[in-house]
Amino acid sequence: MTSVHLGLPAVRPAGAGPVAVVPDERFRTGPLRDRHGRTARDLRVSLTDRCNLRCHYCMPPEGLPWLERPAVLDDGEVVRLVSLAVRELGVHEVRFTGGEPLLRRGLEDVVAATAALRTPGGRRVRTSLTTNGIGLARRAAGLAAAGLDRVNVSLDTLDPQRFAAITRRDRHADVVAGVRAAAAAGLAPVKVNAVLLRGVNDDEAAPLLRWALREGYRLRFIEQMPLDPHGTWQRSDMVTAEEVLAALRAEFDLRERPAASRGSAPAQTWDVTDREGRTGDVGVIASVTRPFCGDCDRTRLTADGQVRTCLFSTTETDLRDALRAGASDDELAAAWRAAMWGKRAGHDIDDPGFLHPARPMSSIGG
Ligand code: SAM
Ligand code: SF4
Repeated sequence: MTSVHLGLPAVRPAGAGPVAVVPDERFRTGPLRDRHGRTARDLRVSLTDRCNLRCHYCMPPEGLPWLERPAVLDDGEVVRLVSLAVRELGVHEVRFTGGEPLLRRGLEDVVAATAALRTPGGRRVRTSLTTNGIGLARRAAGLAAAGLDRVNVSLDTLDPQRFAAITRRDRHADVVAGVRAAAAAGLAPVKVNAVLLRGVNDDEAAPLLRWALREGYRLRFIEQMPLDPHGTWQRSDMVTAEEVLAALRAEFDLRERPAASRGSAPAQTWDVTDREGRTGDVGVIASVTRPFCGDCDRTRLTADGQVRTCLFSTTETDLRDALRAGASDDELAAAWRAAMWGKRAGHDIDDPGFLHPARPMSSIGG
C-alpha cells in the first residue's frame, strides 16, 4: 500500500492512497516539534479498535468494521515504536487506549516493556490507561505489578439503567468494581471521565462529583466532540463546559486553579469543596468551547500503526508498512518527526470548512 521513500513513509489523507514526502535534514534529530512552537511529549497509543460497549456517541449498535488482525501492530511492533518515541523523540508519558485496551491480550506485557523504558535523561516514563473499566477488577493488581502508574475510567452515569441505555450493555456494576479495584491497587490518582448528553444524563454533573469526592476519585467532564461514527454531532446538542460548571456551582464551592498550573493538560481544573467540607478537584475538558490546541503536547499512534498529530487530523503517516518493509529506527524517527512538523495549529471545529475525521474516536484512540 505504502512505498518507503528514502525512509520516509507516505503521509496520506486517512483512507486515501499514498502521497510522496520529501525527506528533510530538519527531521534527522531531536524531539517531535511542530511549526507552531509545540513539542509533543505525551504519546497516546491505541491498542485495538474493538470494544465491548457501544456508547451512543462513539459506536453504532452493530459495532464498526474492525481492523483485520494482520493490520494491527503486534506487541513487539508496538513496543519498538513506543521505545523509539521515548529513547529518540522526547516522549516521557505514554497512555494506552482504544477501542477498549483491556481487550488486548498482551496489554500487561506491553505495559511492562513500556514501564521499563528510560528517557535519555534516565527518567522513568509515566504510563496510564484509558478504559471503560470492564474486567479491570480482575486485572488492576496485575497491571499495577506490570508497572502501570494510573488509570482513567470512563463512567457517564451513576444509574445502572441509564448506563445500559448509553452503552447498550448492562455492565454498570463491573465498571464501578473496576474503578474501586484500580484505587485499591494503587493506580492513583484514579480519574473518572464523564460525557454528559442532553436529555440523557445532563442532570448528573453534581451527583457524579458528590460520588467522586466521597470515593476519592478525580472527575473529568469531557465535552462531546464531533467524533461520532455517523457524523451526526451537532454543537447545539452538546452539553457545554459552561453548563456543567453552572450545575456544579449550585452545590459546590469551586475555585479555578491558575492557568499556569495547567501546562499542557487538556482539563481546566477547579479545587472543590462540598457541603460537608470534603475537598477535591474537578476538571473540564472543553475541547469544543475552550480549545487548548496552543498547548497541545500529544502525538498519537493508532492500532494499525498510523501516526496522527491530532484527534481531528485528516491525514495519517504510516509507520506500520515502513516498519514491516525494514525501515531503520532512524528512518522511522524521521518519519514521525516529519509527521509532527505538519501538525495543524488547531482543530478548527468552528471553521465552516471543518472536515469530520474519517475515523471515529474508537478507531483513533481517545
Ligand atoms: N474504551 C475506553 C474508554 O471508554 O475509556 C477508551 C477509548 S474511549 C474512545 C476514550 C474516551 O473518549 C472515553 O472517556 C469516552 O467517553 C470518550 N469519547 C468517546 N467518544 C467521544 C466523543 N464523541 N466526544 C467526547 N468524548 C468521547
Ligand atoms: Fe467503547 Fe470507550 Fe467508545 Fe464507549 S467510549 S464505545 S467504551 S471505545
